[in-house]
Amino acid sequence: MHTQPEDVLTGAYTEDEFFEDLLKVTGGEMSHDLARIVIRESASCRSWMKHHGVRFQPSLGGTLHLSRTNAFFLGGGKALVNAYYRSAESHGIQIDYETFVESLDIEHGRFKSAQICLPDGRKESIAAKTAIVASGGFESNRDWLREAWGPAADNFLIRGTRFNTGVVLRDLIAKGAATVGDPTQGHAVAVDARAPLYDGGIVTRIDCVSLGIVVNKNAERFYDEGEDFWPKRYAIWGRLVAQQPDQIAFSIIDHKARGRFMPPVFPGETAQSISELAVKLGLPPERLVSTVEQFNQAVQPGHFDHAVLDDCQTAGIHPAKTHWALPINEPPFTGYPLRPGITFTYLGLKVDHDMRVLMQGASGVDHSENLFAAGEICAGNVLGKGYVAGVGMTIGTVFGRIAGRSAARAAGYQAQSV
Ligand SMILES: Cc1cc2nc3c(=O)[nH]c(=O)nc-3n(C[C@H](O)[C@H](O)[C@H](O)COP(=O)(O)OP(=O)(O)OC[C@H]3O[C@@H](n4cnc5c(N)ncnc54)[C@H](O)[C@@H]3O)c2cc1C
Repeated sequence: MHTQPEDVLTGAYTEDEFFEDLLKVTGGEMSHDLARIVIRESASCRSWMKHHGVRFQPSLGGTLHLSRTNAFFLGGGKALVNAYYRSAESHGIQIDYETFVESLDIEHGRFKSAQICLPDGRKESIAAKTAIVASGGFESNRDWLREAWGPAADNFLIRGTRFNTGVVLRDLIAKGAATVGDPTQGHAVAVDARAPLYDGGIVTRIDCVSLGIVVNKNAERFYDEGEDFWPKRYAIWGRLVAQQPDQIAFSIIDHKARGRFMPPVFPGETAQSISELAVKLGLPPERLVSTVEQFNQAVQPGHFDHAVLDDCQTAGIHPAKTHWALPINEPPFTGYPLRPGITFTYLGLKVDHDMRVLMQGASGVDHSENLFAAGEICAGNVLGKGYVAGVGMTIGTVFGRIAGRSAARAAGYQAQSV
């Protein structure tokens, strides 16, 4: 949040507006207290990040209406973590790369040691006064995704690392950690179906959904493509595609949409007619022609403005398109095949205000004195479902700072202010 324009941010994004946005997308499925903490503490994150070498850049224009609400790292996530590694090393912190945590030794809710596997295969145990777990969700664990989603999970692509297999999360759940969230909920966007299985990153996301229509493999529309601004809706489209037959869908636009969205890495299929496009995409041509015709006839006159919730909408069809509805009638037509792209899962560890992991004990649920969590592994405390752009990194940064301070205190150190 910020109350006035800052270097790379325009206007203000107040606590109340941020909170209302979260409330809306989660449908209230969030801890109000932890959400308020995330929002309030986000105000001081950027100066702290800059102190550790992170640099910011102004947001790009286009469909992602973000310059007021989101600050972008120069160089993206990799530059961000590299800055943190450099800063940590300059403070004498040792980093063991390519080292896998297999399990944690927990006794009466207290962390004792971590069992690790080194890059050469040797196993070791590391004892410590405190620990913070920040090992992500379980999005890269196909078996776990299948438990939640059934066979549909076989068609999911993972947008990030292959290493977030939820080993630490599952180990802690087995050892009595309290959980929050639903295993089928998560951040999932529609990505290009031609994206790699892992690490496709941001460039495979398809951002033209709100500028056209989306159909399933039967060439039928299934959801309002113009429901809200893209930053508040893009993260539901992976889930929507996951619910379609064979977990595949197609985003269809015409010439008018060109230049209005961030172009994805793979070019779309293009054609001079809708039936030709259908053939190229493997869709039933007559059905697609009919769906587009019905849509075009339903479009009402309005004033197109992608920067506001405009009055271009359909009437008399289901599902309606409630904003930015323009007829799809100007060739060339373009289509992108879509798959669910899982960014991260929401089932996670329940935490208190100090990021202590809550553990089931003999006398009920109690917080651990020395085990803390941060990031995706506990994002479900704030995100029961839905997403607003940027809140993933905000949760990671805020919870990470709090967990760091709490762990330092629990280990007997005075936390520093930076
Ligand atoms: C393609 C993509 C685009 C995104 N874009 C945005 C965005 O624009 N804005 C935003 O706010 N958020 C975005 N996010 C989400 C954001 O990246 C995450 O919320 C954030 O990285 C979570 O941080 P984390 O430290 O909890 O998890 P991660 O960054 O995933 O780090 C977890 C780490 O734990 C390691 N690990 C896992 N298991 C083990 C184990 N057993 N032993 C040892 N190490 C382990 C993994 O290798 C990994 O390095 C995006 C994510 C992706 C994948």
